[in-house]
Amino acid sequence: MSVLIFIDQAEGHVKKSSLEALCYGSALAKQMGIPAEGIVLGSSKDDLAALGVYGVTTIHQVQNDSLNHFDAQLYTRVIAQVVPATGAKVIVFSNNTDGKAIAPRLSARLQAGLAAGAVALPDTSAGFVVKKNVFSGKAFAKIALNTDVKIISVSPNAYQTIAGTGTAAIVPFNATVDTPKIKVTAINKVSGEVPLSEAEIVVSGGRGLKGPENWGMIEELAKLLHAATACSRPVADIHWRPHHEHVGQTGLAIAPNLYIAIGISGAIQHLAGVNRSKVIVVINKDPEAPFFKAADYGIVGDAFEVMPKIIEAVRKLKNA
Ligand SMILES: Cc1cc2nc3c(=O)[nH]c(=O)nc-3n(C[C@H](O)[C@H](O)[C@H](O)COP(=O)(O)OP(=O)(O)OC[C@H]3O[C@@H](n4cnc5c(N)ncnc54)[C@H](O)[C@@H]3O)c2cc1C
Repeated sequence: MSVLIFIDQAEGHVKKSSLEALCYGSALAKQMGIPAEGIVLGSSKDDLAALGVYGVTTIHQVQNDSLNHFDAQLYTRVIAQVVPATGAKVIVFSNNTDGKAIAPRLSARLQAGLAAGAVALPDTSAGFVVKKNVFSGKAFAKIALNTDVKIISVSPNAYQTIAGTGTAAIVPFNATVDTPKIKVTAINKVSGEVPLSEAEIVVSGGRGLKGPENWGMIEELAKLLHAATACSRPVADIHWRPHHEHVGQTGLAIAPNLYIAIGISGAIQHLAGVNRSKVIVVINKDPEAPFFKAADYGIVGDAFEVMPKIIEAVRKLKNA
């Protein structure tokens, strides 16, 4: 019996969200009195054994060229072989894009109950009850998983990453990897930017910025803070910014440590994608803007006056 944690990679590097999943899975294993183990698909450029500091004792690695690119169908079929062979009782994913694609498929294949978007460790005192976000983070639900094998995907930023000590044993796993049904012919990567879904800090702009020509100040602050840039939906719809920056109910849901919203009203559909941010700072000239209700810190003022001052202050602080 074990808790098996999926270690998600991008271009052979372990994603930050995987570390959260590892810590969550290891804490759960401790709670259940069983070992925590990891699973990696494809090659890795990172020192996988070092992930032992997050509580895993063993990492099963399936090496195959077809697994070096994410393929939800293929990954599901391989993980479905690893689960029974390792005797895993709970499989933990991050509820990121990859986790959202694999976990439901695996759930159907293994007939395993799935709780997607967990925000806390399960209550195992009587059964197995997982607390998760529902209605775009406006409420919580408690899901009881009654199946023998259980699957949990953890909301990004919901569980703290704490490193201890330890080294994991890397154990090759011989799985049947069939020919992928999907062939990756090209990868067009946005380069030189912090990926939005992984960013610790996000600087975001809305229609209050009046036009795409004014995004220089957003990008400048983002660069100084090593942050990603984001935007509200209308901004992407009118092509001021690319669609991959659109956050909210119909865009990307993010949970950075710091979300700075500039000239964004704070409509519920926008909040749905950002309300799990640890700290929210709002800059808006309208003191009645709904976003202030969700903000930890707010500045009532014209973005065109406030932003240059903030940029100047951050630059001074960095040079101090
Ligand atoms: C089904 C559905 C799904 C949706 N999904 C999304 C979604 O995923 N994401 C999303 O963002 N929206 C979504 N929307 C749209 C959403 O309802 C809002 O219309 C949108 O978020 C508003 O964008 P905004 O705040 O940039 O613009 P506005 O509502 O126009 O707000 C602009 C804000 O800027 C402020 N402002 C103006 N000038 C300045 C200045 N000089 N300095 C400082 N502040 C200034 C104004 O006071 C105002 O608060 C969705 C809507 C629907 C119906």
